[in-house]
Amino acid sequence: TYIVTENCIRCKYTDCVEVCPVDCFYEGPNFLVIHPDECIDCGLCEPECPAEAILHEDDLSPEQDQFYKINAELAEVW
Ligand code: SF4
Repeated sequence: TYIVTENCIRCKYTDCVEVCPVDCFYEGPNFLVIHPDECIDCGLCEPECPAEAILHEDDLSPEQDQFYKINAELAEVW
């Protein structure tokens, strides 16, 4: 799955949302998140993000690892 990370905070540029074929972006409190069970790993959103906030889960740095859980939780709640 792809994950939205800290660079998205307060960006909310929504080009990524528009290209997602399965509509798995959700709006969090101050940034967008991807539902990890719904993302089909197509990779279309990654180059659309002007803040380079979207990464594949395998490319997360140790500091960004927490965003996997944050995306999963916020996608359920919001
Ligand atoms: Fe949607 Fe594809 Fe991005 Fe997953 S990788 S969030 S399916 S556009």
